[in-house]
Amino acid sequence: MQFRVFEKDIEVNAPTVNSIVAGLGYFTNLSKRYLSREKIGKIVNKQLVLDSGEWYSQAAWLRAFENIAQQIGDKVLFKIGLSIPENAVFPPFVVDIDTAVQSIDIAYHINHRKNGRELFNMETGVMYEGIGHYGYERLPGQNKIISVSRNPYPCAFDRGIITAMARKFQSGAAVVHDDSKECRKDGRETCTYIVTW
Ligand SMILES: [Zn+2]
Repeated sequence: MQFRVFEKDIEVNAPTVNSIVAGLGYFTNLSKRYLSREKIGKIVNKQLVLDSGEWYSQAAWLRAFENIAQQIGDKVLFKIGLSIPENAVFPPFVVDIDTAVQSIDIAYHINHRKNGRELFNMETGVMYEGIGHYGYERLPGQNKIISVSRNPYPCAFDRGIITAMARKFQSGAAVVHDDSKECRKDGRETCTYIVTW
């Protein structure tokens, strides 16, 4: 279900919040209003400022994001998702559309933590549970990837992220939401996206 945490005591880091706030563009005033209400960031000279080393309650962040999302709609959420990978730094293993789509789940876990521990350990490659996943399944012999999102972020936003990551290495890649499957917008647990090229 969109905007509902899987577990308590999960935190999200400031760069993740910042990248979504940056994607809001014209709607920046909304982030100021709803993030400061949740005590995320400080208003300095009328600007919302997040300390880059800070971590925030994922539940509080999702409450703010839900309020913002209700005002901007799916088109803008999709655009924000598209903008997320623009300024991201990718690990060296990300070299093609497969590794790009796989890396979404890793980046997602690096940027969230539980009880002070990041949910992906770069050195050991161990991933910890608590926030759900961004899925990856390559259909054999086909230029097709199925990605199932089982996480609290909104449907249109995830479609944007997956689209941007797919196109980074495969121009013209198309990502569609599989409407024959369940959708988190209807209060369900997953959304399924089909990536083709
Ligand atoms: Zn959906």
